[in-house]
Amino acid sequence: MLSVSEARERILSNFQATAEETLPLGQCANRVLAVDVPAPYDLPLFDNSSMDGFAVRAADASLLTLSVVADIPAGSAPTVTLAQGQAARIMTGAQLPEGADAVIPVEDTDFNSREPGAAAPQTVSFSRSIEAGENIRRRGADIRAGDVVLRKGRRLKPQDLGLLAMLGFAKVAVHKKPRIALLSSGDELIEVGTPLTAGKIHDSNSFTLAALIENADAEVLRMGVAKDTRESVEDLLQKAVRENVDLIITSAGVSVGAFDFVKEVIEANGSLNFWRVNMRPGKPLAFGEYQSKPFIGLPGNPVSAFVGFEIFVRPVLEKLSGRSDGSRLKVKVRCAQEIESDGRESYLRAKVRVENGVYITELTGHQGSGNLLSLVEADALLIIPAGVKCVPVGREVEAYLL
Ligand code: AMP
Ligand code: MG
Repeated sequence: MLSVSEARERILSNFQATAEETLPLGQCANRVLAVDVPAPYDLPLFDNSSMDGFAVRAADASLLTLSVVADIPAGSAPTVTLAQGQAARIMTGAQLPEGADAVIPVEDTDFNSREPGAAAPQTVSFSRSIEAGENIRRRGADIRAGDVVLRKGRRLKPQDLGLLAMLGFAKVAVHKKPRIALLSSGDELIEVGTPLTAGKIHDSNSFTLAALIENADAEVLRMGVAKDTRESVEDLLQKAVRENVDLIITSAGVSVGAFDFVKEVIEANGSLNFWRVNMRPGKPLAFGEYQSKPFIGLPGNPVSAFVGFEIFVRPVLEKLSGRSDGSRLKVKVRCAQEIESDGRESYLRAKVRVENGVYITELTGHQGSGNLLSLVEADALLIIPAGVKCVPVGREVEAYLL
């Protein structure tokens, strides 16, 4: 049976980033940059004041009074050149006039009219020394034209969009959102909103998985629930193929049950690369292609489906999205209880708290793969490596923070 890392490598080698598209900046949040972005100009673009006050020549600090020869609000271009003994009233962000080399904040002057609309004074005095460069933001101090400020493969954060706007980009080349078809399978499944009858359960995986797909910045196309028949499974897979998706995800029907048709239908219409992974939960996990569309068959048990998504599907969605970094943080946590494992690589639901700067962890409950509440209560998946049967109290293990 394949190890988790072998299975993940096999899967990932079949995917590459989606094509790029150019979108208006306002639609680029959480999209992944398809190109490196060099700054087209310096930032700041011109020397400007970081305070409301008076632009002065630092060498004039010994003079008692300066005459105010200009008023420079933000957004205007100064036309004066300061000569000895002259100052200009200036607002935060306004361009520094020629000749000035410092700004004295209004609070440090004798000019007390600070209400909006107050006219500039004729003269201004202050009684402290000034250093050249004080309260001035120099052209190019933050970014030089040509500097690469954002790299290809970066998922754009809100502040990245702000920076792109500062640099004048109205449009950005990003990767297309991966399109993912999702279907459930099983005769026992009933849609929420419809009353349960004997032997039936609600289809819950499609809600968990659809939200996970969206949370990984991909588009989900919900295909519905396939019955446990070849025809029904084929029918929904065909529907997915017609949608021209980047990946088909199913849940259930890939184990060794008498009505587990998904594997068989995949083999008949494509190929099955593998269908079991040496892990817990989530052993019955299939990968292959259906009519040339990549296919991942997640286990049916709700926790197994989630873990299978986190371990195998999320990395695929990140690769499809063009991301160069991963979204899940792996940390070391210290076990507050003894943990038993069966020797398979295991992903256990746990709560994590911080004590004296150390992550301390405890399981959230019994680890049956149908026990979704224990996943709901968890904020981490502990990673118990293959071959480990017992983790003693106080031992550190790795964990994915959820
Ligand atoms: P299977 O892989 O078909 O043997 O399913 C394994 C277990 O997962 C069974 O208990 C199923 O009832 C359950 N299961 C399968 N699909 C879903 C689903 N969409 N939502 C909730 N439970 C499911
Ligand atoms: Mg089934």
